Amino acid sequence: MDHAGRLRRLVSAIDEHGLDSLLVTHLPNVRYLCGFTGSAAALLVADRGCILFTDGRYRIQAREEIATAKVRNVRIVIDRKAPVLAVGEWLATRRSGSSRVSVGVEAESITAGMRDRLASAMKGKGRVRSAPPLVERARMVKDAGEILRIRRAVELGASLFRTARKKIRPGVKEVEVAAAMECEARLGGAEGMSFSTILAAGARSAVVHGRASAARIPRRGFVVCDFGVILAGYCSDRTRTVHVGHPSREARHLYEAVLEAQEAAIAAVRPGATAAQVDGAARRVLRQRKLARYFTHSTGHGLGLEIHEAPRLAAGQSQKLEPGMVITIEPGVYVPGKWGVRIEDVVVVTSSGCEVLTPTDKELVVI
Ligand code: ZN
Ligand code: ZN
Repeated sequence: MDHAGRLRRLVSAIDEHGLDSLLVTHLPNVRYLCGFTGSAAALLVADRGCILFTDGRYRIQAREEIATAKVRNVRIVIDRKAPVLAVGEWLATRRSGSSRVSVGVEAESITAGMRDRLASAMKGKGRVRSAPPLVERARMVKDAGEILRIRRAVELGASLFRTARKKIRPGVKEVEVAAAMECEARLGGAEGMSFSTILAAGARSAVVHGRASAARIPRRGFVVCDFGVILAGYCSDRTRTVHVGHPSREARHLYEAVLEAQEAAIAAVRPGATAAQVDGAARRVLRQRKLARYFTHSTGHGLGLEIHEAPRLAAGQSQKLEPGMVITIEPGVYVPGKWGVRIEDVVVVTSSGCEVLTPTDKELVVI
């Protein structure tokens, strides 16, 4: 992966926004830019070079990861203090510092307290300004190396559905199914799950984010399984809804409506389409079936180093899709107290449309 190129492009974006430097505190952004994966870090990016501030626990790891990322202009500073404070003190010692120097911060990740401490540690040698989400914008379009990693994560993630199908039986606890899937994921090389596995059976399937509970799977009804793994730093995300026992005609219709909405949204994914248009394509199908009011969330989200990234596929989102963006398409219908269905796949935007990663049969699975 081209970390050096990412840093180079960020430096020009910083310059275009009238900033002298950018203090990157969101850890996935730090990782994206210089390869460092530790849990305490701040990366100060400027055209003169970059400095990674971290603490003594990461002395060896920081050196190794920076070397692997091949970013020659990143210096490492080990400090006992919180990284942001260490940055402030370092800035205060600069001879070139003046109140006219602008240090951009990532407003979405820095706390108000940290920002205050940074400003006071700088002792007037610069001004702290909220920067636009420059790194998040860059991260929206994935490079070939990232797409390959996401593809592998999605393949491993998808394979867990086999375990779910074997394990889902009336009387089995939701957590037992989730545990079997998570065990399989770790044995398959996953660093972890990209979120707590959602396993929601029977009436609980109407709970959009119904994490696996101690509830037992009833004899009849839908089971929503939404799961993902983290493999080599990248996330996967997939939802399949199965039916335990013989599905009623109404249940089949519901499932088919969601599937049709999902396929309409996938068909709408192409470069130049807006995030809102893709969302609208799914919603239109459900509106025709008089189910739109039960579709209570957005149609999808970007994913990569994090499970939820830009863009967000929702009404009013004017972000245009570009080749290399990786997004989920996941419409759902939830009738409170009764049932719910969601179907989710990961797609990558290509030059002419999109590719569904690990396409599989989406006919309703009856257990
Ligand atoms: Zn999901
Ligand atoms: Zn998702």
